[in-house]
Amino acid sequence: MKDLLQKLEKDALAAISRAESAAVLQDVRVSFLGKKGAVTEIMKGMRDLTPEERPAIGALVNSLKEVLEKAFTERGGALQQAAVAERLASEKLDITLPGRGSFTGSKHPVTLVTEEIVELFGGLGFSVEEGPEIEQDVYNFEALNIPKDHPARDMQDTFYVSDDVVLRTHTSPVQIRSMLKQKPPLRVIAPGTVYRRDSDLTHSPMFHQIEGFLVDRNVTFGDLKGILTHFLNNYFGKGLEVRFRPSFFPFTEPSAEVDIACVICSGKGCRVCSGTGWLEILGCGMIDPEVFKSVDYDAEQLSGFAFGMGLERIAMLKYGVSDLRLFFENDLRFLQQF
Ligand SMILES: [Zn+2]
Repeated sequence: MKDLLQKLEKDALAAISRAESAAVLQDVRVSFLGKKGAVTEIMKGMRDLTPEERPAIGALVNSLKEVLEKAFTERGGALQQAAVAERLASEKLDITLPGRGSFTGSKHPVTLVTEEIVELFGGLGFSVEEGPEIEQDVYNFEALNIPKDHPARDMQDTFYVSDDVVLRTHTSPVQIRSMLKQKPPLRVIAPGTVYRRDSDLTHSPMFHQIEGFLVDRNVTFGDLKGILTHFLNNYFGKGLEVRFRPSFFPFTEPSAEVDIACVICSGKGCRVCSGTGWLEILGCGMIDPEVFKSVDYDAEQLSGFAFGMGLERIAMLKYGVSDLRLFFENDLRFLQQF
């Protein structure tokens, strides 16, 4: 009997230390101390013992029960602690990790240039007008004195959607739309996206222009020169040299190209200005009477001027960017600098 009890104690302690969870430990407890457990069975067997044997064995059984209870309590506590530790480890929040940084967006250089120019002309009383990028032939060409046989209509230059519809090749159709919509006097600045069949180092099939025009009584070429010189001096620097060269556009007469002293070399001659010291910056002229005719304006009573410039070119000169393609590649390393 005594040997049996010792074996039982050894088995029970081994089972208790093997239990890896509270549930398993509970099963072990039932199998030894439960109603039908091994220890309980032994106690039932005590009635077969002689009265002399009973006290000694009884004491042994009691001490076995105490030993086992203590072992169960200790193992149960250890398992509970392990469970808590495991949960703490799995749910641990490492507050020493730095947070995830978020990027602050910046405006595209072409947007910046557009906003600056619009603001400058806003100060001169010009208001913003916009037109569709998919434009009717009549607004893009016909009404601007570019008839069907004009070289500017060459398929090399224009994206045709259909015979009568094009992707606008310039922002000038906004002139026509504004003049049809409003009564003079007019002061309009019209930024927008335009399209040409052109793609190389300095040309992109999609680019941006800004168009400005003014219509009123007694507008002269002197007004045109005054406003554009004022604009260029305010935009690129006071005292900047500006020159007007005769040129040709179908929708202005007379027409001029405007150059500024090279902003890179200050007129000494460099690679950007091809050694001339001058940079071509915009085209302009007095609005052709033919254009007024197409919008039913009286060319005897009214006169006006118009000008247009490429915004990517302005941005390249303003920010010293040497490759046009950088504006369209969406490389964050480039865009974040603005
Ligand atoms: Zn230069």
